[in-house]
Amino acid sequence: MTSSSKTCTPSTSNTDIIIEHSLSGKSIVNTSHFVSCIQSLNNHGPFQCSFSNMKIISEVKKGLSSGLKMKCEMCHFRKTVWTEDPGCKKIPVNTAVVSGRMKIGGGLANLEEFLSTLDISPLSSNTYQKEHHHIDTA
Ligand SMILES: [Zn+2]
Repeated sequence: MTSSSKTCTPSTSNTDIIIEHSLSGKSIVNTSHFVSCIQSLNNHGPFQCSFSNMKIISEVKKGLSSGLKMKCEMCHFRKTVWTEDPGCKKIPVNTAVVSGRMKIGGGLANLEEFLSTLDISPLSSNTYQKEHHHIDTA
């Protein structure tokens, strides 16, 4: 998070209607990172608005990592909250799931079946192949 992304300016228009995006399924979440992001959204603006005023307007998926684009209904402050910290030095979830799949055997179809059982959206074939190639050449 950069300091500029926390800047909150009052809205010049009160006519914007926020249509909340509904989420489905489950995600793999770095809990400490996610909770920290949510806590940082409390008391973010000049109108004493908090996380409870933030609505999810869309979701960005990058394999198993997902970002919730949020917007405050009071001051229109926007923030994307990711399920894992993009700057974290630990193995990213997409690499980890492909690596784990390779260690126990099986391929993309097995992984899709496993994730489907958990109600988690699968990786795309491109993401799987990219991660597989990355691991093979590491
Ligand atoms: Zn606000």
